[in-house]
Amino acid sequence: MINRVKQHYDVAVVGGGAAGMMAAIQAARQGCNVVIVEYNDRLGRKLLATGNGRCNFSNLTPELSNYRGAAPDFVQTVYRQFDVDATMAFFRELGIEPINKDGLLYPRSQQASAVVEVLQMELRLLQIAVIYSAPVKKVERLASCFSVVMTDKSMLTAQNVILATGGQASAIRGSSGDGYYLARLLGHSIVTPMPALVQLHSNLSYLSTLTGVRTNACVTMTVDDAVVGSECGELQWTEYGISGIVVFQLSRFASYALEAKQQVNCQIDFLPDITPQASLEDLKIRFWSHGYGKTTSEALIGLLHDKVIAVLLDSCEIAADMPADSCSMEQLLQLHQRIHSFVVPINGTHGMKHAQVTAGGVDTAELNADTMESRIVPGLFFAGELVDVDGICGGYNLQWAWSSGAVAGMHVKRTKYDSDQTT
Ligand SMILES: Cc1cc2nc3c(=O)[nH]c(=O)nc-3n(C[C@H](O)[C@H](O)[C@H](O)COP(=O)(O)OP(=O)(O)OC[C@H]3O[C@@H](n4cnc5c(N)ncnc54)[C@H](O)[C@@H]3O)c2cc1C
Repeated sequence: MINRVKQHYDVAVVGGGAAGMMAAIQAARQGCNVVIVEYNDRLGRKLLATGNGRCNFSNLTPELSNYRGAAPDFVQTVYRQFDVDATMAFFRELGIEPINKDGLLYPRSQQASAVVEVLQMELRLLQIAVIYSAPVKKVERLASCFSVVMTDKSMLTAQNVILATGGQASAIRGSSGDGYYLARLLGHSIVTPMPALVQLHSNLSYLSTLTGVRTNACVTMTVDDAVVGSECGELQWTEYGISGIVVFQLSRFASYALEAKQQVNCQIDFLPDITPQASLEDLKIRFWSHGYGKTTSEALIGLLHDKVIAVLLDSCEIAADMPADSCSMEQLLQLHQRIHSFVVPINGTHGMKHAQVTAGGVDTAELNADTMESRIVPGLFFAGELVDVDGICGGYNLQWAWSSGAVAGMHVKRTKYDSDQTT
């Protein structure tokens, strides 16, 4: 039996994360009577974990190339209405003073909790109702409004519904993927959700040697031998594969390619800041001019991490204890090639549980980018990670949550409710 909550709202926001709280605030500022229905016993649980607890909440240059969902134009249209400047003005007004670290924006206090707190203060000020520990299991379109049914069978009605349940990444923080189910029930298509900003798995035999090593490198990902992207920075080696921001940025390509049974490789350049020509000359000097009395492995000390040296030499079948000056040109060329293009085959990701973001989601072709409203169900809006838009690391995903949430909240309709129509 369903326990009908008597109250009716102009707007019900399903999910009280970044996008949901922003949407609720904007809707309430239009004069709407708003409720947030949240799965967890608190709001903004994932927000607290962002930026290692410091919340990299935006980026000064939200270029479209940093978004990798289905339709970059869609993101642009949303940002035209609520951009980084609007976001900064919004947070400044709430009390958050942003600081800029190479374009990445954080609260000056460097506390993600501060962002959650100021949003909650604003929710209270605007008298936005919050229902906690209330997973929504069904949203249904009635004659002139929506019913929102929770798992304990309680129900409320609302003129507009904003679905902001997040994706599936990092489920421990409440992202159960329920939003996809709710959206499908309402007739929406879902682009297959996949882990993004995630570590990658490999069956490379050298992983046991390399585990724990951090190297500066450029990583170029190929899918069926075609280059899909390249990133430079710190590469981390783990017992299961490779990690670090350079890997995160490329991971969504691997997720979809592996799903399609394509072959994924990462080519590692261990000396990205030295031209191949210069590094070959350096190898000749190290091995032939200065190599007297040294082993091959000793000749490379100071240039590369010692564990990387061991792996590179072994992969070229050059004995680590062989005299450096007895290396042939052919061996040096092979070593040189491995240094600049060491291939790591990728056979999986570390999974949704460890991913920071979900790629895929509600198909943007079925949404109006000017309003974030469904083209299928009038009065139904979407915001945040639930939508098929994902960004790279650097504050892009939260900026998407703020912008899409704000646009959805700004476009809800405030119409007179006729209670007879819900019965
Ligand atoms: C460890 C980590 C670090 C990150 N760091 C950054 C960073 O520094 N910068 C950045 O830009 N991005 C970062 N991200 C990504 C960013 O946190 C997300 O993209 C963003 O939080 C998405 O916001 P959202 O509101 O769409 O979804 P969420 O924040 O996931 O919020 C969705 C809410 O909906 C609720 N919900 C789900 N299902 C239901 C249901 N059935 N009924 C009711 N409520 C429901 C959830 O409990 C949750 O509160 C990070 C992610 C992780 C996991």
